[in-house]
Order: sequence, then C-alpha cells, then structure tokens
Amino acid sequence: MNPRTGHGIDFHRLEKGLKLWLGGILIPSEKGCVAHSDGDVVLHAICDAILGAAGIEDIGHHFPDTSPEFKNIDSKILLKKSFALIKEKGFSIINIDCTICLEKPKIAGYIPEMKSVISRILETTPENISVKATTAEKLGFIGREEGIMAIAVALIEK
Ligand SMILES: [Zn+2]
Repeated sequence: MNPRTGHGIDFHRLEKGLKLWLGGILIPSEKGCVAHSDGDVVLHAICDAILGAAGIEDIGHHFPDTSPEFKNIDSKILLKKSFALIKEKGFSIINIDCTICLEKPKIAGYIPEMKSVISRILETTPENISVKATTAEKLGFIGREEGIMAIAVALIEK
C-alpha cells in the first residue's frame, strides 16, 4: 500500500438569480455561484484534493476556465475526469473529507445525497465520503453572503 494525501480549496462569488450546485446537488437558494462551470465548490475542492494527492497538477491545469469546452460544464463531469486521471496512475480512494463554508441556506439535509453522488463518481462507498458544513459566524465575505468556500482532504492509495 502506498497511501498519499492531498488537499484542495475553492472559492466562488455568489450572486442573486444564479443556481447553487453543491456536491453535485442543485440546492434551492436565492443566490448561486458565478463561474465558468456550474461553480460547484465542493466538487472543485475534491478534484484538487485527489489530483494533488496523485501529484498531477490541479483542476485549472487539466480543465482551463478559458476553454469553451468547459463553459457551464456539470462539475460531476470534471470530477469523473479527475478521477479517471488518478485511476490511470493506479490510484483508488481511501477517504475524502470536505467542509463547506457558507452563511445560507442550511444544507445539512442535502449532505446524504451529496455523499451518495460523490461516492458513485469516485467508485467507493458513502461511508468513505464526509461532507460537513459550517458558517463564518457572519464574518468577512462569507458572512456577508458574497461568497462561498469549500476545503477537501483526500487520502488515496496505489
Ligand atoms: Zn470552482
């Protein structure tokens, strides 16, 4: 066994009238993410965590936001492609832990579905995927509901 760890972090601006995709799920919300893709911070942070663990660059390198190919793309496809890249190197997932930081809406009720979507893409079980949520206690840009952040840690093995 050759375990390797990686982390990922992602931010997006929030604006009224846009869709809020988190962990592959569409969440009812007044505001959504400004992005070249669908702006799913959770999946983007996980992409960077698994790519980082495998030592193969990052999401911006593999899927540039200047490319029309990735305009409005479903981030589940980006995660699928990222997983394919690490699988090609002989890696599989041990576990993923992710924290979403946003002021609102409350997303606890959507977490089981996120885990199920993410685990299917990463060819593992929901028990190996952790998704947590916290607020910024009204501090800074997250507290003012101007933006959203997600952090992910991945442990993979060859
Ligand atoms: Zn992103």
